[in-house]
Amino acid sequence: MKKTLIIANWKMNLDTHEASTLLHRYHETIQIHRDIEIAVAPSTLSLQPLSVELDRRKFRLCAQDAYFKDEGPYTGEVSFAMLQGLVHYSLIGHSARRVYFGETLETVRDKVTAAVRNGITPVICIGETKQERDDGETKQVIHDQLTTALSNITSDDIEEIVIAYEPVWAISTFEGEVAKPDDMQKAFDYIRFQVKELYGARASEAVRVLYGGSVNEHDVRAYLALSGCNGVLVGAASLNYAKFSAIVDSAYRLHHQVE
Ligand code: PEP
Repeated sequence: MKKTLIIANWKMNLDTHEASTLLHRYHETIQIHRDIEIAVAPSTLSLQPLSVELDRRKFRLCAQDAYFKDEGPYTGEVSFAMLQGLVHYSLIGHSARRVYFGETLETVRDKVTAAVRNGITPVICIGETKQERDDGETKQVIHDQLTTALSNITSDDIEEIVIAYEPVWAISTFEGEVAKPDDMQKAFDYIRFQVKELYGARASEAVRVLYGGSVNEHDVRAYLALSGCNGVLVGAASLNYAKFSAIVDSAYRLHHQVE
């Protein structure tokens, strides 16, 4: 059975001191289980200091982004090559990158390629906006984002890839529209169908698919219970160690069929 992957995306919220404090709280409160893997995604600035403090038996580090060139005159950027050995995972194509920083399908493809080239497992974030959803374009968006992102990924590499389905309209909308797990199943099935079309049945079963979008300690179980859901990407709730710990606990209870 695959491990459930839970990623805490701290976004641009904590300076290094605050990030270190939160990591300490994680160490104190989160129970580690064999069948659950936890990755923490602080800002790029905090990756190095946190790597020294992090108990690697408990947590893995995840970058939030990096640049696709390995080196060169790219002022302000940090490359995947520079993150080699420091992080296990990197988010790529998060909707914030696509929306605020104009990342195109091709940029995401190049970043996925660069991550794999440098031995970092990409967590490819895909998902439709509200407008695209209202226009009935969800499948087309998933298709385009996924097939372009995977263009340079060989069948040898595909089984390691992680795909996070994050409908943009459901991100950080705790008070607003929240994705209904039943509706999400169609997207999950379609993602695996696409991987199957590109790489065959074995790859489509092996690839890990996560859900992300306003996940909290109350509804995480319903998302994880979706067929083919291998974990969650958690934003806002991961900034609260008690909530995040409860999310991990819920995942454990689901694995072990405890109410
Ligand atoms: C995210 O930004 O990846 C995310 C899932 O955020 P939130 O949990 O706050 O919706």
